[in-house]
Amino acid sequence: MTARIIDGKAIAQDLRAKIAGAAAALTQKTGIVPGLAVVLVGSDPASEVYVRTKSKAVVDAGMRSFDHKLPADTPETELIALVERLNADPAVHGILVQLPLPPQIDAARVLHTIDPGKDVDGFHPVNAGRLATGLPALVPCTPLGCVRLAKAVHPALAGMEAVVIGRSNIVGKPLAQLLLGENCTVTVAHSKTRDLPAVCRRADLLFAAVGRAEMVRGDWIRPGATVIDVGINRVPGEAGKTRLVGDVAFAEASAVAGAITPVPGGVGPMTIACVILNTLRAACAKQGVAAPDL
Ligand code: NAD
Repeated sequence: MTARIIDGKAIAQDLRAKIAGAAAALTQKTGIVPGLAVVLVGSDPASEVYVRTKSKAVVDAGMRSFDHKLPADTPETELIALVERLNADPAVHGILVQLPLPPQIDAARVLHTIDPGKDVDGFHPVNAGRLATGLPALVPCTPLGCVRLAKAVHPALAGMEAVVIGRSNIVGKPLAQLLLGENCTVTVAHSKTRDLPAVCRRADLLFAAVGRAEMVRGDWIRPGATVIDVGINRVPGEAGKTRLVGDVAFAEASAVAGAITPVPGGVGPMTIACVILNTLRAACAKQGVAAPDL
């Protein structure tokens, strides 16, 4: 068996085109141009790439991007003061503070300062609580993208066995909440889970969000299952270069799975598309207009 490759790049492109259309309609109707402020502290090379990619996606969708680049030794009080200014700025509908932050800054304190209505990363406890209780919320972008990718294979997920490996606040926990909301039977596995391969073999939908290169082997996968690989791991490649691999051993897994996301080109592009989707949603909510059903 050879799995269908879930083309995250194409699915994200399609979503981005729809978001651009909806943003243009919002602007025409209300005069509002959705705006996203992206804050980067320091010069971590991976973070710089993410921030550039997000800003470009925002501009491509006809929205405004406000980029704030601060030196690595920025004190916490200064970053919090910037977030408070962005909270008060009517042109800014979404605020994204790129993680990780340097050690002198308490990331939780900064994230908790963001106005929950502008929290396009969905990391504020108000949004986490709203998601957990089934209220409308800004939901973390990577889990949003993961569910959309699973739905590209199975439009209705109700009743499916979903296994999520990883319980971070950024990916695993909100993903589990979204899957519960889709009426899946959800198991969250983590570093203390006993017999992880056996737990994974139960899954109709397997999500790997661990950060360990190619940990999930082919024989952990139930034949025909849908596998969504969130992991981004750099490993030594040819000629002294590094290459990106996921948390799933792709070649083995694609011989068993029914459908699988590649790394790169799977979850990553969907995360970016969902950042701009959340910016549009935040702008609509601020205007009191219904967000388009995209
Ligand atoms: P994290 O380190 O915060 O969490 C990792 C989770 O994996 C933890 O809950 C831990 O319990 C679990 N874990 C660790 N070792 C394990 C093991 N041996 N067996 C089972 N579970 C184990 O990481 P995160 O922020 O959730 O990110 C996970 C991965 O997803 C990373 O590779 C990250 O780079 C990637 N990621 C990708 C995107 C994207 O857009 N594609 C976005 C966010 C994160």
